[in-house]
Amino acid sequence: MEQFILRVALDTPLATHFDYRWIAPSAGAAPPQAGQLALLPFGRQQVVGLVLEVVTETAVPAEKLRDVLELRADLPPLADDWLALCRFAAEYYQRPLGEVALPALPKNLKALKPVSLQRNLKKLAKLPPQDDATPAAEPVLNPEQQAALDAIGRASGFAPHLLFGVTGSGKTEVYLQAAARVLAADAVAQVLILVPEINLTPQFEAHIRARFPGLLLATLHSGMAEGERLLHWLAAHTGRARIVLGTRLAMLASVPQLKLLIVDEEHDPSYKQQEGLRYSARDLAVWRAHQLKIPVVLGSATPALESWHAAQNGRYRLLALRERAVRDAVLPVVKLINLEREKPSEGLTQRLVAAIRQRLEKGEQSLLFLNRRGYAPVLACDACGWISDCTRCSAHLVMHKGDHRLRCHHCGLEQRIPRACPTCGNIDLQPLGRGTQRLEESLAAIFPAARVFRIDADSTRLKGSAAAAFQRVHEGEVDILIGTQMVAKGHDFKGLTLVAALNPDAALFSQDYRASERLFAQLMQVAGRAGRAARKEGGNPSEVLIQTRYPDHPLYHALMAHDYPSFAADLLEERRQAHMPPFLYQALLRAEAKDLQTALDFLQQAATCLAMEGITINDAIPMTMTRVANLERAQLLVESPSRPALQAFLREWMGLLRGMKSRLRWSLEVDPVDI
Ligand code: ADP
Ligand code: ZN
Ligand code: ZN
Repeated sequence: MEQFILRVALDTPLATHFDYRWIAPSAGAAPPQAGQLALLPFGRQQVVGLVLEVVTETAVPAEKLRDVLELRADLPPLADDWLALCRFAAEYYQRPLGEVALPALPKNLKALKPVSLQRNLKKLAKLPPQDDATPAAEPVLNPEQQAALDAIGRASGFAPHLLFGVTGSGKTEVYLQAAARVLAADAVAQVLILVPEINLTPQFEAHIRARFPGLLLATLHSGMAEGERLLHWLAAHTGRARIVLGTRLAMLASVPQLKLLIVDEEHDPSYKQQEGLRYSARDLAVWRAHQLKIPVVLGSATPALESWHAAQNGRYRLLALRERAVRDAVLPVVKLINLEREKPSEGLTQRLVAAIRQRLEKGEQSLLFLNRRGYAPVLACDACGWISDCTRCSAHLVMHKGDHRLRCHHCGLEQRIPRACPTCGNIDLQPLGRGTQRLEESLAAIFPAARVFRIDADSTRLKGSAAAAFQRVHEGEVDILIGTQMVAKGHDFKGLTLVAALNPDAALFSQDYRASERLFAQLMQVAGRAGRAARKEGGNPSEVLIQTRYPDHPLYHALMAHDYPSFAADLLEERRQAHMPPFLYQALLRAEAKDLQTALDFLQQAATCLAMEGITINDAIPMTMTRVANLERAQLLVESPSRPALQAFLREWMGLLRGMKSRLRWSLEVDPVDI
């Protein structure tokens, strides 16, 4: 009997591969291949692993070598270039390959019984052929859009582009027409489009379906049921879906004929995964494009400083769209309201209230941006000073009025709102500060006839409810929309002529050096929701009102001038002088334990176990939010001006850390975004 040794990856933290024996079930059976899945015995369990290599020799003694239980031959093998992508991500982010590759596959594919795989493959086979890439009527591009499209079209080989276009400049149209060209030029070509948020997929999906009615579209995001997910994944993997649209996890999907990559709102922090494999989907997209020698388009009105820097020094080609695409739609006028001079009542200044009233009279929509959900961020007792702290975290319990709860937004702890102060019995407890629920209540009281509507993580908990909520806004069933960052991104609301930010100042003084970059992007995004439709004859331009205590802050001035380039230039200069990214590369080791000292001790030991030239190891310090869910957290920052040097250090360091006997949980993040 013919036999082979299969070297497989398993989803375990052990940084190693495993060898198994496969005996051909019959003479002439197809030999196994790399990229296939196999059912394997592992300890006393059965697991599904990924074949990395078919080898002839193994170091495992024959009597210890176990047999493959079953080879999943009905699944076309994963391509070598996909394995190479996983291998790169594993090495770069310092994780075992198995913990990268296997979690990237849909759960149902790794089920012990392959019934759902077969059912879905059949379903796909029954679909009528959908390979007509002819686009529906395309709008005529304006000269800047056309120039961007031509530049992308002319590119050959690896070609990273930064499409820097103000909000409403028609970046989507450039993506769609760039996709159309690639799909028309090659009958099997696939295009992958990434969006930062699930909530943006329906809008984008509708554009794609309308534009390419003859093609199959696969969507991939974390909100999908497992069955659905497998079907869409297979559609991408088998090449049936010529367009794949998804959130960051789609970056690790198998798209074997990938010829163009698009990352919309590339600056968005959601592209960074914050647990498990802490990867940046945007960075992987650029690597993938390099690997496949294809163009990649990163689009944003407020690019990440890393991307902007790359465009400035010529590593990325900069394509700029300076005007709004809709005729007569102009960028909104940004104005500041000085909170030191105009005292707000219920968080709203008179000027803001008047501006909302004007919009109501004209039948136009207003959006109030407040990035804090709940009713009030804390409940307090004036008599004794008690405040609603979470017993498990260094955070306050947030008051949620509707369901009478105090809730921790970090660990999920919740309790009923106490009738009286738990320490002194005072029954007059005060909510301090303001969240979206409280704002909703205030506005309903000021404008009883208006349709006030709130969109945040609480109001959209049920599956499908977010899509329905955004639909209501699009259909004009809402006069005043209140929302967190959920509403700030990408939505093309046509009826909005007023956007207000209630009190964005906190981020100006945050410890996180990226906070101002983020605040600027966020405000620019939310401001960009206004004035997207053509201005009415004789009408005023749309307005953005920002209530602030710091009207002289340069960030707000750049915002008023819609001047990302000079804001970015200033920030980059600051970062250059302070030796911070993108002029420096970082990795962050985090540890958590029941007591802080244990975590700090571990990090201290880690800090001293290896030294290398060109590597700076900082002191271990408690994290800003030290305690979450009864665990104390600390961190250690490692830096280097050279990425290869940092990578070399991390590789060796990880080996040492994995060998250290410690009971606590630790994790490494390469290119950390929150420090
Ligand atoms: P962005 O993604 O840059 O914020 P969108 O792609 O949402 O902007 O485009 C904004 C609006 O401009 C959309 O309503 C879109 O249909 C419209 N648009 C885009 N390109 C054109 C064009 N060439 N002619 C007319 N309208 C356009
Ligand atoms: Zn009290
Ligand atoms: Zn908590």
